[in-house]
Amino acid sequence: MSSGHDHHDHDHGHRPEPPSDVEARALALESLLIEKGILTSEQVDGIIRTFEQDIGPMLGARVVARAWVDPDFRRRLIEDANAAVGELGLNTTNLARLSVVANEPGVHNMIVCTLCSCYPWMILGLPPTWYKSPPYRSRAVREPRVVLEEFGVVMSEDVEIRVWDSSADLRYMVLPERPSGTDGMTEAELAGLVTRDSMIGVGLPHVPAARA
Ligand code: FE
Repeated sequence: MSSGHDHHDHDHGHRPEPPSDVEARALALESLLIEKGILTSEQVDGIIRTFEQDIGPMLGARVVARAWVDPDFRRRLIEDANAAVGELGLNTTNLARLSVVANEPGVHNMIVCTLCSCYPWMILGLPPTWYKSPPYRSRAVREPRVVLEEFGVVMSEDVEIRVWDSSADLRYMVLPERPSGTDGMTEAELAGLVTRDSMIGVGLPHVPAARA
């Protein structure tokens, strides 16, 4: 639990650790902009709300669902994620470079930022608090299989687990496999199966209830 920005953290009201350098700089910058009358704290809250509620993680879910129904889009997404995401009408001009890594039989991907908390926020919104925590950041690399099990995902030993370390310049997103039993579903219905955690690689998409 290293996150310290009060606006971000609705899941705990106090700060268990001092803010990191980046967080301290963000807080200082925010205070300065408010003090100078350039920004109000309401505006800051509004921006954060946009990332929490309006952006993520539904944009990512739309991207995944499109890739599930359109093999050509899937290929373009893996080749050049920024361009492919732009096809969905999302503004990609200010995005860091995005790379989409696809799960397939025998290969499971998960993402981490070992250095800090780099995250594909442009399509997943704000990162969950645990993503920024030192234990996740170190253990995802050292013992990904154990971490996955703690998230309730048990991978058989013959599945290769690939861990992708994000950076300020390059953010990763996982393309989960389309669950079976989803043949008749629309793209919008499929998007509803895609969880944030499945796009981080620590979860799997929902499996639809059996239909008559
Ligand atoms: Fe980072």
